[in-house]
Amino acid sequence: MVVDPLASPFALHETYGWRGDDRGLLGATPFVRETRDEYTSRGGYRNLSRSGTAADRLERLAGAPGMGNLLGRGGAAFPTLVKIRAVARGAATASAPPTVVANGAEGEPLSVKDRYLLRYRPHLVLDGLLTVAAALGATEAYVYVADTAARSAVRAALTELGDSIATVVHVFAAQDTYVAGEETAVVRALTTGIARPTDKPPRPFQVGVRGAPTLVLNVETLACVALAGLPDARPAGGTFLATVSGAGRPPRLYELPTGLPLGELLREHLGREDSGFNVLIGGFFGGLIPAWPDLELSHHGVRRRGGGLGCGSLHLLEAPACPVKVAADVVAYYARHNAGQCGMCMASSAGIAATLAELGRPRPGVPYAELLPRWAAQLRGRGACAVPDAIAGLLRTLLHHHPQQVTRHLAAGCPQCGQVEGDPRWGHLLVTLPPSADEPTIARAREPVPSAMGS
Ligand code: SF4
Repeated sequence: MVVDPLASPFALHETYGWRGDDRGLLGATPFVRETRDEYTSRGGYRNLSRSGTAADRLERLAGAPGMGNLLGRGGAAFPTLVKIRAVARGAATASAPPTVVANGAEGEPLSVKDRYLLRYRPHLVLDGLLTVAAALGATEAYVYVADTAARSAVRAALTELGDSIATVVHVFAAQDTYVAGEETAVVRALTTGIARPTDKPPRPFQVGVRGAPTLVLNVETLACVALAGLPDARPAGGTFLATVSGAGRPPRLYELPTGLPLGELLREHLGREDSGFNVLIGGFFGGLIPAWPDLELSHHGVRRRGGGLGCGSLHLLEAPACPVKVAADVVAYYARHNAGQCGMCMASSAGIAATLAELGRPRPGVPYAELLPRWAAQLRGRGACAVPDAIAGLLRTLLHHHPQQVTRHLAAGCPQCGQVEGDPRWGHLLVTLPPSADEPTIARAREPVPSAMGS
């Protein structure tokens, strides 16, 4: 067991019967790196030997409990099996063998789940990665990760595995930027070192790392794949990791049953269910919606209510926190942290951030009421990645769910909007894991190095 004595400030919870459960994503011993022997004793790495053909292994994987319904955990919620099969089809005709990537870049400021998994359950992620690599006949794989402590943990886990694995696994130091985890940016970084998104098509399953068909899966998705292969497995995707922050409470990482009503989480996290909250859901990506107690916490459930569960994070905003100010802070973050390569995205994010900030003291004659919905409609699908969609979705949810606050701003301004908490103004929205014992320098606000964005 490798204990992390500094980890306790970040509370970690498994709820609703999942506490201390070996078969869950969080594991039985929070903030303790699970060793190979411990993981193997729980039934892990059962697929380490590559028996049968890749096609046989793919069908075995497809038949694991819940695999057919597993949605990706990086944010886009794309069906995992569909993605794997697309790479298998591409590999059948490609000249280069396929490549598999565990994407642990986690550039989303409100999420820590991927770093948690890589630091403390690296074998669970590696088991998923090796299982998928075997199903595709891939002989090379990557773990793509920005967090230094997570990289160390993965390297230690690979050392424990030694030459017992048939796949060559490279650990790649991803840039610590918002867009570095977008899957075309992942492929580009692994091929050229430049972690910025590219236009689509082609998608990575068509042309990926050094031209090979490439499967990029989020590390939580891979952990779900591995869990589904453990003895007495629960269906893949039966639970998900949620970083919950805000409301003046320390952040917590929860493992929640998929579909849990938000009210139950609020009771667990705050000790009360309350209608006075809004929630910035899915990181900065899923919108700003009321914290309805009956909101079903699943991708479908949140989508039905006009938001997106994305990476599974929830930032709670307790009344009278101003939703317009929070939207201004998020768009200001995007204006600073876009990849600096698409004109529309760069100009729009800067303009919208300035306009939202201005609503604290609106200028006479500016047609704010026309501009905001126009931007919400026009920005969708513009740019090489989904950042413009994220800004559009945020504006849409702001206008749809908070029309009275917007109207009040236009009529009389807002004292909160004039107050910028700390520097940078989005600093109150950053969540980080505490330092690991062997890596004391990582406890810092997760601010990308400016030069890394433009390189
Ligand atoms: S849309 Fe924006 S964030 Fe995305 S690649 Fe283009 S400039 Fe970068």
